Amino acid sequence: MNVLVLNCGSSSLKFAVIDPDTTVEHVSGIAQRLGSPEASLDVRRNGSRSSRPIAGARHEAALRAVVDLLRDLGLADGLLAVGHRVVHGGSKFAGSMAITPEVIAQVEECVPLGPLHNPSNLVGIRIAQELFPSLVQVGVFDTAFHQTMPPVAYTYPVPYEWLERHGVRRYGFHGTSHRFVAQRALALAGLPADDHALVTAHLGNGCSCAAVRNGRSVDTTMGLTPLEGLMMGTRSGSVDPAIIGHVAGAEKRPPQEVLDALNKGSGLLGVSGLSNDMRTVEEAAAAGNARAGLALDIFCYVLAKTVAALVVPLGRLDALVFTGGIGENSATVRERTLRQLEFLGLSVDAAANAAHGRGTRGRVTTGLKPQALVVPTNEELMIALDAAGIARAA
Ligand code: ADP
Repeated sequence: MNVLVLNCGSSSLKFAVIDPDTTVEHVSGIAQRLGSPEASLDVRRNGSRSSRPIAGARHEAALRAVVDLLRDLGLADGLLAVGHRVVHGGSKFAGSMAITPEVIAQVEECVPLGPLHNPSNLVGIRIAQELFPSLVQVGVFDTAFHQTMPPVAYTYPVPYEWLERHGVRRYGFHGTSHRFVAQRALALAGLPADDHALVTAHLGNGCSCAAVRNGRSVDTTMGLTPLEGLMMGTRSGSVDPAIIGHVAGAEKRPPQEVLDALNKGSGLLGVSGLSNDMRTVEEAAAAGNARAGLALDIFCYVLAKTVAALVVPLGRLDALVFTGGIGENSATVRERTLRQLEFLGLSVDAAANAAHGRGTRGRVTTGLKPQALVVPTNEELMIALDAAGIARAA
């Protein structure tokens, strides 16, 4: 039996139908530019891609189009469950949950923490409940994996009332990906489930690291929002918060606009002035573009510094795990980062590092203790596995 995985964003809806037992993905795709005349449903099946217009469709019409597609493919009947990605679970969810009215109310309470994502996630849940009333619906939260962090890791040194009144603390994100690659890394690295110390680096458009001790997240780099931590495609990562007041005052702009620039106009894009896309930045750097070169240097420097810092909560390092579009594909980023971490005993294996790309996994260092690995992430599969487990236990 298959699980329908849904990831509902503000103007897009990603879906996948996955067999949790064989891990086979039967079909996946994205309905994007929802609400606009250019809305389309892009589908990937058996390695081939197709696209059809769904002009003007919003989430509900898009999900109906997905269901029609599944009917045509003979995949609509016999579904086991629907798994939903939910971005912000605040402190309320430490694991995946069957969706009930109480769970929906709690996700609604988290809207102030995830104002850009949670409302769309809730729209996806409501429509899926209408279309599949007899199926178990499961919420899988980006924040849940990091709920095992101790107070010393999640409490910001700010007035304590902000935590009590407004929930100001580190939550962390990309939890589904960190959990998935940490689990997969154990077998690859030959590490025991009850005694390991990993740093997982999820490097996509958004980037974060997690420190994982014996299967539990003990610290992570993203915070109250995904803005904190590593340098990213368009996000600055950690910077002096006084920058906001300084630039707002100097340019006579509202502070919110400066904050928007830290989220959308910074990172690789802001420094290079070219692109938020690592491929473009790497190519420009190789061709001699100085600002692209600086952007690449900062990206790897901040990443290496962060990995080293996360060894503190772990007490030792068994493995560094690279994942996400950049982590899986950029031999350059891995090599430059690892070279700055030689003092930890990580020594890059140039041939193995150059050989690893999307879909391949394995070690990219010469040594075993510690070692660095590439492990492709698969958040959809993790969601399908969680949803199947909960549906079968129900
Ligand atoms: P998202 O976070 O949106 O899921 P991905 O995980 O797909 O994104 O990562 C996107 C990033 O991966 C982009 O910066 C892209 O340039 C980068 N990337 C993909 N392939 C390569 C490659 N071969 N070399 C360097 N970077 C790559």
